[in-house]
Amino acid sequence: MDYCTNCKASLKSGFFGSTELIEKRKTEFINRFANLQSDDYCTKCSPDLAIKASSAWRSQNTKLNTSLKELIR
Ligand SMILES: [Zn+2]
Repeated sequence: MDYCTNCKASLKSGFFGSTELIEKRKTEFINRFANLQSDDYCTKCSPDLAIKASSAWRSQNTKLNTSLKELIR
């Protein structure tokens, strides 16, 4: 795969600015808390989504405390 399945950005690694897929567990975090279902996110599209996911996570933090510990272990 040479592009991001979410935003279709071409993946490249270079000295000046690279676009790479993020870790699988970060993808799972975004899917879960931003309510999305993409297989992958890249360094281009993930920051905004991660912010969205984080704020959703915070609001659900107390009741999901146990499962979150599983997720970030
Ligand atoms: Zn992307």
